[in-house]
Amino acid sequence: MDFELDDYGFDTLAIRAGQHRTAEGEHAEPIFPTSSYVFANAAEAAARFSGAQPGNIYSRFTNPTVRNFEQRLAALEGGAVCVATASGMSAILATCLGLLKQGDHLVSSRAVFGTTTVLFSTYLGRCGIETSYVPLADLDAWKAAIRPETRMLFIETPSNPLTELGDIAALADLAHAHDCLLVVDNCFCTPALQKPLELGADIVIHSATKYLDGQGRCVGGAVVGDAERVGKDVYGFLRTCGPTMSPFNAWVFLKGLETLSLRMRAHSANAVALATWLEAHPAVARVYYPGLPSHPQHALAVKQQRDFGGILSFETRGGQADAWRVVDATRMLSITANLGDVKTTITHPATTTHGRLTPEQRADAGIRDGLIRIAVGLEDIADIRADLARGLDDLAG
Ligand SMILES: *Cc1c(COP(=O)(O)O)cnc(C)c1O
Repeated sequence: MDFELDDYGFDTLAIRAGQHRTAEGEHAEPIFPTSSYVFANAAEAAARFSGAQPGNIYSRFTNPTVRNFEQRLAALEGGAVCVATASGMSAILATCLGLLKQGDHLVSSRAVFGTTTVLFSTYLGRCGIETSYVPLADLDAWKAAIRPETRMLFIETPSNPLTELGDIAALADLAHAHDCLLVVDNCFCTPALQKPLELGADIVIHSATKYLDGQGRCVGGAVVGDAERVGKDVYGFLRTCGPTMSPFNAWVFLKGLETLSLRMRAHSANAVALATWLEAHPAVARVYYPGLPSHPQHALAVKQQRDFGGILSFETRGGQADAWRVVDATRMLSITANLGDVKTTITHPATTTHGRLTPEQRADAGIRDGLIRIAVGLEDIADIRADLARGLDDLAG
């Protein structure tokens, strides 16, 4: 049974898109743990290998469970094609090496995932692809950074950990006026809260490891976009160079997608409640969360997102010692840098995710020593609040 995509809403697609039942009539999606596929005869093998006949050959190229995940995520993002990858980082690598070449130039938001910056500066740099970094929200800086050889603009919105926003529609217009592609890492919002392709972006990247899984089990990634760039160029890199998704992981992510919009609404509701409470706490100097009316880009968040997501940060009034007291006073929250899990996590960015930056680089990025990031999970909000109140009340005491 194939599923016609056009007539259904987001939540229906999240549960049913991409499933092609086998002759066994299974209700749930099956896992196909097979590395290769057999052919009826020599002529069929030859036709598959030459491309004259479509169909499976080898699981580095295609796999039915992986395809199910790809078709479902493509439907949710509103893209023609999705290719699944072994991790979020390999999704970014495949996009860059599939679409850029020596001599090309990339402009990236300064506020992207730290490892993404290493990939751009170190590994793309070695291939002769140069990257410039600009402040996410400063449209004039983006304009000024574009050169004749610029081919791609790259953003994450909201940013980590300060929840700055990039104006996707405005950056898409800018990119297209200069013959560039706009690539959006949609990891924090997921298509349940934000659809970059509808806003004009060309390509969406995911670390499926985060909210698409939603329960912290598997590492994976995806690239969504059109048939030419993603279906041919990015896929061509993947099937040759090999960082493809395993069928087991694809199956876990498929199950994650089924509850994606329920979870994202619940993460957002808990985060709004926590941000509002933190903003009123005497030990808290400042809260960064796009859902607060005090956020400088709250209006843009309302315009381009369906809800505000599960990530927030706040500053204690003192420095590192105070922030560590709050972290160490928790009993339930997980002290880890991962995010996008039903379990709430707490991170001190200055000494972990941003610990390798120099103090000047951290100051430039706005990462103060008193900053704490929370990836708000789905536990009872009263318990999350109480766990943070232990340290914060002490500081205010
Ligand atoms: C985690 C993350 C990545 C990298 O994804 P992996 O699955 O860990 O390779 C990329 N971008 C963002 C925004 C992330 O949070």
